[in-house]
Amino acid sequence: MTAPRTYHITTFGCQMNKADSERMAGILDALGLEACEDANQADVVLYNTCTIRDNAEQKVYSYLGRQAKRKHQQPDLTLIVAGCVAQQEGEQLLRRVPELDLVMGPQHANRLGDLLEQVLDGNQVVATEPIHIVEDITKPRRDSAVCAWVNVIYGCNERCTYCVVPGVRGQEQSRPPDAIRAELVELGRQGYREVTLLGQNIDAYGRDLPGSRSDGRHSHTFTDLLYAVHDVPGIERLRFATSHPRYFTERLIRACAELPKVCEHFHIPFQSGDNAILKAMARGYTHEKYRRIIAKIRELMPQAAISADAIVGFPGETEAQFENTLRLVEDIGFDQLNTAAYSPRPGTPAARWENQVSEDVKRDRLQRLNRLVEVKAAERSQRYLGNIEEILVEGENPKNPAQVMGRTRGNRLTFFDGDCARLRGQVVPVKITQVRAFSLTGEGVTGAIAQPPLQPIASP
Ligand code: SF4
Repeated sequence: MTAPRTYHITTFGCQMNKADSERMAGILDALGLEACEDANQADVVLYNTCTIRDNAEQKVYSYLGRQAKRKHQQPDLTLIVAGCVAQQEGEQLLRRVPELDLVMGPQHANRLGDLLEQVLDGNQVVATEPIHIVEDITKPRRDSAVCAWVNVIYGCNERCTYCVVPGVRGQEQSRPPDAIRAELVELGRQGYREVTLLGQNIDAYGRDLPGSRSDGRHSHTFTDLLYAVHDVPGIERLRFATSHPRYFTERLIRACAELPKVCEHFHIPFQSGDNAILKAMARGYTHEKYRRIIAKIRELMPQAAISADAIVGFPGETEAQFENTLRLVEDIGFDQLNTAAYSPRPGTPAARWENQVSEDVKRDRLQRLNRLVEVKAAERSQRYLGNIEEILVEGENPKNPAQVMGRTRGNRLTFFDGDCARLRGQVVPVKITQVRAFSLTGEGVTGAIAQPPLQPIASP
């Protein structure tokens, strides 16, 4: 069979999947394939999938249907499903789509080269067995030239009763701190200015690394990692996601307040504002603990931006319990809140429970929550008006080529007039002139120094 020439990767789901897709693209580049804009023209078609909710999972089947038809016309087309649906379905996916050549779970992303070789030898391959994720040496094909994703821990050992992640991404595997630092050094050398450190449950970083002690205290914590990578030359901004309130420590908050490169933006999913629901979710914290975490962050970093995830319509959720979620959102005032209606997932405990909430009630609650989220986000955006904010320019405003776009340290998308070729990768002081719920507009201020983040008031 002639070596395929071009490839196309479609990515669904979270930042972890985006980072995996960038690495898989880098592997295909290294094998001499060329990226192709159109999936219907490519010789190798890869779908990197998500199964966090049913609608995410269903999406890939419609795409696969079209490609399977194409394969009958073009037998040397190589069809690959990667990511969480691949891990969840495994062999069953071959029965559903016999035209598939390769089904590979997220843990196998770095092995794409070897797996593709087996396919080119005429095999139909399923790679979903749990493995130790090897460090990947190929250069990821990153979407941005300014901001980079860097995985620090794969998988999750939590057992939230609604979540498929532990079942599809496996046990926690922290990358060695030296390997992470080496990747950031290389990124700094290549001109990257911002790095987002990634993990499904990033606060658990290090607890599986050698040197972890039986009493649970371990020598490599995520806070230690932040200190270990903070002085990497060229990298001006550090971000991280996704945090877990159960493991979010005051030591981490103090480190973020102390380390200038760490941006004052925290993504800490709370999921529900009701303690009985949090217990049924097996989240391991109360809404009171969550509120204390946010209060401590705002005490030390008054301008900090807070984003989160919330689920409505979890099995058994009553109107009163839903109102506890509304109350928490009202009280905290999130800069951004990703909301979703509960979706029963295969293999998760909550999916088997009798007390499922009806789709109508879920829809109603989601709409009410989204209305409140928009109001609170607009209120939060007001604090930027008239400020001079540091904007790291990431690229051109896709809707207006005369403008560039970037983010505040609080991760608020910002647009202003400017020449992208000159400003990309620069941190520019911008006076904010217009605010919207989820984005800002401003004017570049030459010579002006952006307002430094407000210093915490010395506690008496
Ligand atoms: S912490 Fe819970 S919700 Fe997050 S990935 Fe792990 S199991 Fe899923």
